[in-house]
Amino acid sequence: MRSIAVMNQKGGVGKTTTAVNLSAALARQGLRVCLIDMDPQAHASLHFRLDPYPGRPSIYEVLSGKQSLAEVRQEVSPNLWVVSSTLDLAAAELELAGVPGREVILREKLRQDPIELDYLLVDCPPSLGVLTLNALAAVEEVLIPLQPHFLALHGLSKLLQTVQLVASRLNDRLRVSGVVLTLYDGATRLAAEVAADVEAFFRNANQQSVPWSQARVFATRIRRNIRLAEAPSFGKSIFDYAAGSHGAEDYQRLAEELHNAVGQEPRSSAG
Ligand code: ADP
Ligand code: MG
Repeated sequence: MRSIAVMNQKGGVGKTTTAVNLSAALARQGLRVCLIDMDPQAHASLHFRLDPYPGRPSIYEVLSGKQSLAEVRQEVSPNLWVVSSTLDLAAAELELAGVPGREVILREKLRQDPIELDYLLVDCPPSLGVLTLNALAAVEEVLIPLQPHFLALHGLSKLLQTVQLVASRLNDRLRVSGVVLTLYDGATRLAAEVAADVEAFFRNANQQSVPWSQARVFATRIRRNIRLAEAPSFGKSIFDYAAGSHGAEDYQRLAEELHNAVGQEPRSSAG
């Protein structure tokens, strides 16, 4: 199983759109996929018409030790399961504050989970708090959606510091597998310049001993496409909402690129 946290501490960069539509694209190929919504805003859950109201089965019950992942997981379409979020999750940060091992609760729950999956994706909140730490401690890969604007690289360094901290303290298997450029406007020079900067940054990291030394900038850019913004309000993935759109095309290609990238990374040799 590949396990991937979709992470960026900045909001509005396309994390949820990527987590949802990548999950849907992989499941459509016949792969068994589970998406965990770790964001109290519950946008991924809503995208699948799962209401985030208190008392519904959610990741909150799992993190607070009341239920197992199997008990809260819901099958939303063939091969695709979702562990939904809830507005209650906003309180988890405080509630878990004094709990020893609070960063590794999700990892422990996943270890006890018998389901066989090809992909586990986690949609992270726009922060670097205990929810994101749980995601990073539980997965092996980080996928970073990045909107190519002026300060994109600036925000990236804080994010990578967090990944490095988690890799050294909690999860030595953690690697940044890639950056996906989102909300991409191919007509602007800025987008192309930022893309080139990001590519150069990761090329330079190639020889360093850091969790992102093998990270790629995916060749697939996710273009700005209004259909992607409309799909959530219909409770559908882009493939069910607008199969012929640029959005569907881009996420299909990203899924293929991600899936084919497996095995190219020397993940065992680094130890
Ligand atoms: P995040 O999870 O990082 O906060 P979202 O995925 O929720 O970001 O995206 C922020 C907003 O931008 C949402 O309204 C979403 O529908 C919209 N959006 C995301 N990606 C695209 C895109 N490629 N084209 C147009 N709108 C997009
Ligand atoms: Mg989101």
